[in-house]
Amino acid sequence: MINEKRILKQNKYEYKSGAVVYWMQRDQRAFDNWALIFARQLALENDVPLFVVFNLVPDFLEATIRQYGFMLRGLKETEAILAENNIPFHLVEGDPTENIPNFVNEINAGVLVSDFNPLKIVRIWKKDVLEKISIPYYTVDAHNVVPAWVVSQKTEFAAYTIRPKINKLLPEFLDDFPEDISVPKHNLDFPEFDLDDVKSRLKINFEVTESDFFKPGTKAGAITLKNFIRTKLNDYNEKRNDPNETAISGLSPYYHFGQIAPQRAALEVKNSGKDDKSVDAYLEELIVRRELSDNFCLYNKNYDSFEGFHDWARATLNEHREDKREYIYTLEEFEKSNTHDPLWNAAQSEVVKTGKMHGYMRMYWAKKILEWTPSPEDALKIGIYLNDKYQLDGRDPNGYVGVAWSIGGVHDRAWTERPVYGKIRYMNYNGAKRKFDVQGYIDKIDRL
Ligand SMILES: Cc1cc2nc3c(=O)[nH]c(=O)nc-3n(C[C@H](O)[C@H](O)[C@H](O)COP(=O)(O)OP(=O)(O)OC[C@H]3O[C@@H](n4cnc5c(N)ncnc54)[C@H](O)[C@@H]3O)c2cc1C
Repeated sequence: MINEKRILKQNKYEYKSGAVVYWMQRDQRAFDNWALIFARQLALENDVPLFVVFNLVPDFLEATIRQYGFMLRGLKETEAILAENNIPFHLVEGDPTENIPNFVNEINAGVLVSDFNPLKIVRIWKKDVLEKISIPYYTVDAHNVVPAWVVSQKTEFAAYTIRPKINKLLPEFLDDFPEDISVPKHNLDFPEFDLDDVKSRLKINFEVTESDFFKPGTKAGAITLKNFIRTKLNDYNEKRNDPNETAISGLSPYYHFGQIAPQRAALEVKNSGKDDKSVDAYLEELIVRRELSDNFCLYNKNYDSFEGFHDWARATLNEHREDKREYIYTLEEFEKSNTHDPLWNAAQSEVVKTGKMHGYMRMYWAKKILEWTPSPEDALKIGIYLNDKYQLDGRDPNGYVGVAWSIGGVHDRAWTERPVYGKIRYMNYNGAKRKFDVQGYIDKIDRL
């Protein structure tokens, strides 16, 4: 049974009759998916068919074939798992605000369920869909362990303000998932989608190639999780900030596309019996920090702009607008790893080559963009653009918040004042050198 607090009813309509449709968006998996679990529950209770529909938009926020390819291959696997469980999967292409209401009408659906995403564009789609349908519509938070609207009803100031709220609710929400997702067979089915056909209709950048370093899909995600727990988790607490070590999980692309549930990972890590400090450190990142990002995007509509920064951060950045910048680079120079700093260039090359930059380097990378651009607005724009274009996990609340933390002190505090940064936390090459073998990292990326 699903905890009802995970479910949000979005309109006044009551269920009368007809099939259940799960409009899959952010949580692109068959198992461990509270939205699908709820949709299935409704279908079984009313003895009606259950359908999953996925709307593919032909372009989306700088995403390239790197991210689309990862997503579509993951969806192919999800389609197959759903079929094994008698759940038809239908991929439609184009505008979701047209396609979803049309689909609902075509099959005479009686109820629409979707997963939760705090990003603006998705919320606009949902609002439009809501206006066009006259059946009950539910949103289920299948991405956060504690549903975003339950943990807090306002923008949290920092990790220390949301942490006690999450910890208090974890005993209630960190529960296990039901295993059975199957439904009785019904007659209506859809042809499987053709990956190459679908790809050929995308209106995106095909030059940023798909990554050879990350295999998409729920199965690959589950193997990555298993290997992380077995071979790396014990080192996570001490070594996660060293980009030469492989102590991090590498799971963010799978979380981003919902190919595995963060809650599944949290359960496995918690029960792993591995080093306590490492288990706690991982759960802090996976639950507290990640869910803090969803909180920020849910309640701060300026999550991707200067106006979204705290008052103190805007004030200090404004005071330092006219400070002389020692270096100024164009977007192209950044993109081509063409700065004077070999460490920065290596970080940019890492994401271009592999599709994922190490977490420690992401902070350094974004802070230097603030230092080497004419204004914080330029820095934010370039940071988000490059993040969304090259990272497999880009266009995620974590990405907007990560860039805003680095450039605008979001969820951080004021530090010692200095040129350009003002009171925003500073990072530099020598600091990195004290923490890890910088040359070793540069050489490693060079060899890729
Ligand atoms: C400038 C900048 C940009 C970033 N862009 C993104 C992005 O586009 N997408 C993205 O998912 N993350 C982003 N992050 C957050 C973090 O760097 C990545 O989540 C992490 O590096 C992903 O690698 P991993 O899964 O191997 O990390 P692990 O260390 O193994 O962490 C496990 C999980 O915990 C969560 N997590 C870890 N660090 C953070 C953090 N600082 N904030 C919130 N959640 C965290 C993520 O879900 C991550 O997958 C960004 C951070 C910064 C500073």
